Amino acid sequence: MKFLCDQMLGTLAKWMRIFGFDTFYANGEIDDKELIDICSKENRILITRDKILIQIARRENLKTIDINTIDIDEQIKKVISDREIDLKKVLSRCILCNTAVDEIKKDEVKDKVLKKVYDNNEKFWLCKKCDKIYWKGSHYENMIDKINEIKKLL
Ligand SMILES: [Zn+2]
Repeated sequence: MKFLCDQMLGTLAKWMRIFGFDTFYANGEIDDKELIDICSKENRILITRDKILIQIARRENLKTIDINTIDIDEQIKKVISDREIDLKKVLSRCILCNTAVDEIKKDEVKDKVLKKVYDNNEKFWLCKKCDKIYWKGSHYENMIDKINEIKKLL
């Protein structure tokens, strides 16, 4: 299951990636036609607040999720309400660029993260595209809390 979030939904795109969903986020200059093309070529579900874009997409027989709110929790609820979030997949994808991250050996990150982070974590992941290192620190616990909170509301 792959998604595309339009330019207005950057925060939602970030959360989708945190959940481990392959999510294209169109930041910068990209027109409606290009968005539709990407969805159709890559078989992505279009997530948008743009009513006109929804109409175009439906005409092209694309799957869409119509977002009607600017509240991020409501947006997340709408998108995940009929999809299981596999907690094992949380943090499996780079939040910045959507690339799947790879686990790397602890000693490889020694000079790249703060000593405190190094000492307190055993597992690390790397995005090969943007060189960002991930670990399941306190931000990870916060994410799991948020996911459980949202699941409760479904
Ligand atoms: Zn990346």
